Amino acid sequence: MFENLSERLSGVLDRLTRQGSLSEDDVKTALREVRVALLEADVSLPVARSFIKRVEKEATGQAVTKSVTPGQQVVKIVHDALIDTLRGEGDPGALKIDNPPAPILMVGLQGSGKTTTTAKLAKRLTHRDGKRVLMASLDTNRPAAMEQLAILGRQIGVDTLPIVKGEDPVQIARRAKTQASLGGYDVYMLDTAGRLHIDAELIAQAAAVRDVANPRETLLVVDGLTGQDAVNVATEFDDKIGVTGVVLTRMDGDGRGGAALSMRAITGKPIRFVGLGEKMDAIETFEAERIAGRILGMGDIVSLVEKAQETLEAEQAERMMRRMQKGQFNMNDLRGQLEQMQKMGGMEGLMGMMPGMGKMAKQVQEAGFDDKVIARQIALIQSMTKKERANPALLQASRKKRIAAGAGQEVSDLNKLLKMHRQMADMMKKLGKKGGRNMLKQALG
Ligand code: GDP
Repeated sequence: MFENLSERLSGVLDRLTRQGSLSEDDVKTALREVRVALLEADVSLPVARSFIKRVEKEATGQAVTKSVTPGQQVVKIVHDALIDTLRGEGDPGALKIDNPPAPILMVGLQGSGKTTTTAKLAKRLTHRDGKRVLMASLDTNRPAAMEQLAILGRQIGVDTLPIVKGEDPVQIARRAKTQASLGGYDVYMLDTAGRLHIDAELIAQAAAVRDVANPRETLLVVDGLTGQDAVNVATEFDDKIGVTGVVLTRMDGDGRGGAALSMRAITGKPIRFVGLGEKMDAIETFEAERIAGRILGMGDIVSLVEKAQETLEAEQAERMMRRMQKGQFNMNDLRGQLEQMQKMGGMEGLMGMMPGMGKMAKQVQEAGFDDKVIARQIALIQSMTKKERANPALLQASRKKRIAAGAGQEVSDLNKLLKMHRQMADMMKKLGKKGGRNMLKQALG
């Protein structure tokens, strides 16, 4: 999976990491090569473009960390961008199968691996999750396909709905539903008919089955080897039938892998599973982190940069602490604190950790101080000038009005913020004088 793309990307990035310093041109050149690698892997053009744009933006706005090279930082940025491009919402492997019997509708073109995937998932649900599963083939055009599912069922020890000649797909779906209820199954899987191309009849049939079964999940199976075509097929199926996720098959092959990267960005649908061979166990959930790691193969560098970033944050906290001790707690510092709070789960969380502030935390809570308030306060600080932030005592009534208006708030909101700043500054100074260095350090670190 992704061999070519992986080789190309790590080639480009490897060269970057070995350079001590990087000019903007170095980064640009490297990103051009990354872009070519993505396009050669059959990633769609708009996806490749926005990927590069994002990496470029972050690479230029990056705080410099001493202990890693700029190239290593670029690797981490590319890694994170890959994860974001690949990731859907929630856990891809968690199929919605509460309220038994839960119907799962399997759709896709003929030859995409739909029947194989149906059986693979049935096996997984049965043996890994301990569910009772019933499979039914709705491919009335191809008796061989119905027989194939029955054979797979016997092989993996999962029941299939007996084949009754002359029934249409909707009748089979109804019978599957009844059988699943009566037989106490947790899940029933409907393997719909496929065709070589999407046509009106195929869609009409899948839609009719969908309306009868009211599936909890509709999984579209597409052949990963078909690159951008897989994405087009997914777009069309989703428009016409509505799908809850995609299974990309044949990812064991030497396909170019572009479908995996374009799928969610273009269709908005997450890839849930990947098929990695013909065997019944050859299926994996599509975990963005793991896949990104496989594509880049530079896990060591990624964790190195993560550590360095943590260190950088610690250094910033240390610098702030020293300023506070000298009584230099200005609006920029307050803003830093507020941003830190946003990251750490709000005011209450942070104050609870600071010695002597438990009581204040309670007051803060009672005053209805939540994350929205924090965001509004940051907005107020942002509309001050640099000078005012360094020395809020400069603020006159007319400026206060402008600042409050600029942040879409009232002067009273600004006054509250200024009061809070004064109180915090006082407290910081006291703590500093009392030799509360360690206390502060503990609180901030
Ligand atoms: P359907 O027509 O969509 O139901 O496709 P099938 O399930 O019959 O699969 C068609 C062929 O693809 C079969 O030979 C499968 O063994 C094979 N196949 C399915 N999934 C995979 C996969 O993930 N990797 C590989 N290498 N082959 C697969």
